[in-house]
Amino acid sequence: MRSLAWRLMVACALALAGGVAVSRPVSAQESTHVKTMPSPPPAPPPAAEVSSVSPAVQPPAPSMGPVVADGVSLTGDHTQTRLALDLAGPVEYQVFRLKTPDRVVIDISNVEFTMPPAAGRNGRGLVQAFRFGAFAPGKARVVIETAGLVRVEATRLIRDGARGRHRLELDLVPSRSADLSESEVAAARESAARLQLGDAAPVPPPPGPPPSPQARRAPVIVIDPGHGGVDTGAQGTAGVEKDIVLAVGRALERALNATGRYRVVMTRTGDAFVPLERRIRISRENEAQLFISLHADSLEARELAHIIRGATIYTLSQSASDERARQLADKENAADILAGAHIATDAVQDEVKSILFDLMARETAGLSLNFRHLAAKRMRGNIQFSRDPQRSANFLVLRQAETPAVLIELGYISHTEDEKQMLSPEWQRKVAGAITTAIDDFFAASGKIFR
Ligand SMILES: [Zn+2]
Repeated sequence: MRSLAWRLMVACALALAGGVAVSRPVSAQESTHVKTMPSPPPAPPPAAEVSSVSPAVQPPAPSMGPVVADGVSLTGDHTQTRLALDLAGPVEYQVFRLKTPDRVVIDISNVEFTMPPAAGRNGRGLVQAFRFGAFAPGKARVVIETAGLVRVEATRLIRDGARGRHRLELDLVPSRSADLSESEVAAARESAARLQLGDAAPVPPPPGPPPSPQARRAPVIVIDPGHGGVDTGAQGTAGVEKDIVLAVGRALERALNATGRYRVVMTRTGDAFVPLERRIRISRENEAQLFISLHADSLEARELAHIIRGATIYTLSQSASDERARQLADKENAADILAGAHIATDAVQDEVKSILFDLMARETAGLSLNFRHLAAKRMRGNIQFSRDPQRSANFLVLRQAETPAVLIELGYISHTEDEKQMLSPEWQRKVAGAITTAIDDFFAASGKIFR
């Protein structure tokens, strides 16, 4: 059941289609009517467009697949900034703010972005930067990082020319108050609850037919390509972290499947947002015997970006091996927060606190270190390593009591040469091959596989 806030937003959005500003309250009856009629009423188009809009042209029905968002622009300055999203059709949307850090979120139903992720990197006026992408099934999200406190002055969905094209506009103005309105709090809560519902969805088993008794004994390896969807991760000049780590993840999946010795489970197989806690659950519920999280690092400092490069393999530790490792863990742990999807990780926290966890985790930690060492040995010579390639830090996704887990930063996307290599399918296959050999070493040593 959608909340009133959502319905009001949808109703307002549709009432505003055609550029007609409406500020009157919307009755429950009207919003129910709007809810069952996702296409906007035939409002008069903007003056400039009157002659070009044919009455025969209807916006695409929702059943025709996702609406494409193919352009975005920022205009204005520090007194008022407008973000405009170009859409191939009408959409349902909801706007709310989130605190710590200050963000404005636009949740949009059934939309697919085709702009490059870098489109949101450079801000203007009150917008520092923004991210966009898939967020939950059938739902996409734009997360706007703002420069200081802002208020959403207006949102409108405007019919924009023929062929059902629309433009979603959002006007931001400075605000002195950090307080969220009741409807914003409700909207944020509803959004978190919806995500949690998705998060609680059953963890899918490995693909393919049910394993034979022999295959069931095969070690389960969970491959965890970091980030995804609205959470793009680090951005380079030609690529983004979420795409690179998915490509390497899939190459590793293929290499492991080719051995016939393992059952491979991916935490994501496409450009989807997966909260950190769900990644851990996928590992736990599949009783993974090894968890490998894949990432790519990035340096903000330009003076170091062309110097620092290479891969690093991390294991979990309460205190980081060095300051840089601590900063990196903070950054990776903030993935959910940046996506506007931070949910209290009570389950993980409780598990972390328990004595049983400590006992199991100590043994698991030894195995993780063991795998880190083997992976470093096999990857060295195949790819460029950082100066100190075996490090540790407090990564949330590695907090697993029963599963040896490592997080591999494949290289620095901020380094031109590293980025070029990471984008090369040949390099991706080479890394996947080296990690596969390390996995063979790991399980052969414990007698779990025979080569
Ligand atoms: Zn990352």
